[in-house]
Amino acid sequence: MRQVLLDARLLPDPRTPDLILDDAALAWRDGVIEFAGPRSALRAAPDDVITRCERDLLLPALIDCHTHAVWAGDRIDEFAERQRGASYADIARRGGGILATVRATRAASEAQLIEAALPRVKALIAGGVATIEIKSGYGLDFASETKMLRVARALGQLTGARVVTTLLALHALPPEFEGRRGAYVRAVATEWLPLLLDQGLVDQVDVFIESIGFSVEEARVLFRAAERLGCPIKAHAEQLTLTGASALAAEFRALSVDHVEYLDALGVRALADAGTIAVLLPSAFFALKETQLPPIAALRAAGVPLAVATDLNPGTGPQRSLTAALNQACVLFGLRADEALLGATLNAARALGVHELSEGLQVGTPADVARFSIARWEELCYWQSGVSARAIYCRGRLIG
Ligand SMILES: [Zn+2]
Repeated sequence: MRQVLLDARLLPDPRTPDLILDDAALAWRDGVIEFAGPRSALRAAPDDVITRCERDLLLPALIDCHTHAVWAGDRIDEFAERQRGASYADIARRGGGILATVRATRAASEAQLIEAALPRVKALIAGGVATIEIKSGYGLDFASETKMLRVARALGQLTGARVVTTLLALHALPPEFEGRRGAYVRAVATEWLPLLLDQGLVDQVDVFIESIGFSVEEARVLFRAAERLGCPIKAHAEQLTLTGASALAAEFRALSVDHVEYLDALGVRALADAGTIAVLLPSAFFALKETQLPPIAALRAAGVPLAVATDLNPGTGPQRSLTAALNQACVLFGLRADEALLGATLNAARALGVHELSEGLQVGTPADVARFSIARWEELCYWQSGVSARAIYCRGRLIG
């Protein structure tokens, strides 16, 4: 049968958000769009199943291209400690921070991790998201990283959302490798990555390149291995300091570099030349009360495509609404609403290498569609608390 949405306002291409078709129709079969245009041009088919949209706005479903949505335990006490004046470093010294989440995640079963993560993923979907990137990085041993990636795949099956998985074993040094950094990096690059790719659990690889994470040279070891294996790469780069991570990532034609608050002119040039997307994570910036703003004007001037994501994670990103993150990107980073919308749709698709979603709603593309009861598309960026979708379809299937 063919699904048909009628009486809609259609925003098919976020590159031209003001070109909205009034009295539009959208139709798909087997999850692939067959018609997108004025209702008057739609020819009825005998197997049409019709939904009337009451003049709601239809647009490409949103894409959250950077999350750490799978974890066990919580960091709520840490939040309270920080409110009482403790620094992130104080908390880490007392055994908190990422390593607290690692202990809890290692101890949790797959079922427990699914139970914990499912409401987070459903919250993202309720806000109009149909594609979600989920990273590992709280396991930090082979079995626990495998477990996290299996949970990410299961969340895709359970919710119907498209889940893109990322191996982030180089997130923090696991305690058992204290003093043996090189051995850990080599194990991830030469043993874990090929095995996990073989099992179909990894779509791309990521590294936390930072003074408190891994060095540019350590990241290079992993990127070389990923390149040999044909695995796309991305990096947490220039979040807290300038490390040169973006230039390294660009050298390897990374899909994206994420955070980029401390990015310099050289890094901007490197991203532009490589066609790498800069992913902005304003909710982490907000949570850490950072003051160093990403160089938006320079990125714009160089033509680097911008994306926006939630960075959903237990420590620095308790953000379950992508449209709330769009609001923060506009308010905190000075993005225009059209840039934010593009950053949560077509550019986010490019940041994940999901190229079939990088051209908008067209005949022949997947029916990943969000339906919002809003008068103007700018409301997606305007409301501080985010906006709920009235319906959300992934590959033509209603998922929320
Ligand atoms: Zn992150």
